[in-house]
This record gives sequence, structure tokens and C-alpha cells, in this order.
Amino acid sequence: MADLQDRIAGLKKDLLAAKGISQTDLAARIRKTGFRCQKCGECCRGEDNSVVVFPEEIRRIQKATGLHWLKAVAPPEEGEWDREGCFHTLEWRLLKENDACRFYQDGRCSIYPVRPRLCRTYPFYLDEGRLMHSECRGLGKKIEQEEANNLAESLLERYLTEIQEAIHLLERYRDFERGEAKEGGECIVHDSEGEHRVSKDKLA
Ligand code: SF4
Repeated sequence: MADLQDRIAGLKKDLLAAKGISQTDLAARIRKTGFRCQKCGECCRGEDNSVVVFPEEIRRIQKATGLHWLKAVAPPEEGEWDREGCFHTLEWRLLKENDACRFYQDGRCSIYPVRPRLCRTYPFYLDEGRLMHSECRGLGKKIEQEEANNLAESLLERYLTEIQEAIHLLERYRDFERGEAKEGGECIVHDSEGEHRVSKDKLA
């Protein structure tokens, strides 16, 4: 429990530091790196495509598409079993079909206006306040100032949200006694809203 409290305290410090990041400096760093989306769709397909999505983002997608929660997202496969045979895992990922995001259709994003923060800011992310990027063929291409400003704004908003979501997750997290893997049973997803219980046979 002390460990959990330490982690929450650490995240609160990160949040304070994140609020001090200059959007202007960030935009300048993005311009220096350069980026222009090549519309190749590579970030939406393949083994590496794994989009973490927060509850409020899932609801926005549901509102736009009318989809049931489990038709839009799935729990990640990494997790631990408790003594009752329930599988515990953290956060949600956009559902995949045929090795691609289930919303990648006819060579484009079918939920573009409500796509998650991670997609809006790809290939960039912030790690301990440092600008980082994933592999992308659009990197190094010229980006206009206004676009860099918009990207920096979205990136900062994403970073603050990620830290806040992690704080809320840990504040609501209830630890459990570890057990062995069992057939069937429930999957318990811990997120910023607490615990979501999902019957394993309802998962795709
Ligand atoms: S939500 Fe849209 S942009 Fe994000 S991975 Fe899926 S298809 Fe690509």
C-alpha cells in the first residue's frame, strides 16, 4: 500500500512538472524534428498497432458509432490471476480485427473526428516531459508553424490526461491475492473509473 501511495505521490509531482512545460518550446521541438502524415495507414495496422484508450474516449467513440463497449475496445492480454480465477488487467485498447485497428476501414480512419488522443498525436509522445517519437515515415518532413502549435497543444493535453488517468487508476485500485490461471471466469479491468468486470466469453 505504501508503494501505491509513493507512486501516486510521484505521479502528482509529474503532473505539476507537466503543467510547467512550454507549449511554444514543444512546438519548436516538433518543427525541428519535422512531420507530415503520409496517409500510409501503417500506424493503424500491424502487430505494433496497440492504441490505449481511456473511458471518456471510449464513450465518445460509442456516441459517434452506437457500438457496444466491447465492440470498440478490449482488455490487453497482459495481466495476473487472482485466487478466485479472475484475470486482472489495466486499461483498454482499441479492438483489432485482422491485425489492424477495427476502425481502419477502406484505407482510412472511420472515426477520425473522435479518434483517441494517441492517434491524434502520433508519432509523438512525451516521456518524463521529453519529446519522443515512434517510427513513422512522415518524420523529418516540413511542418508549418500552425500545425506544430496544434500538435504541441494536443500532445500536452494528452500527457496531462495520461498522468491524471494513472493517478485516478491507482487511487481506485484494489489489490488482490495472486492465484493460478483458470478456464472461464471474469476479466477485471482496472482503469481510472475503478473496476470493470467482463465475462471472458463476451470478449472477442
Ligand atoms: S482509431 Fe483511427 S487513427 Fe487510430 S489506429 Fe484506429 S484507424 Fe488508426
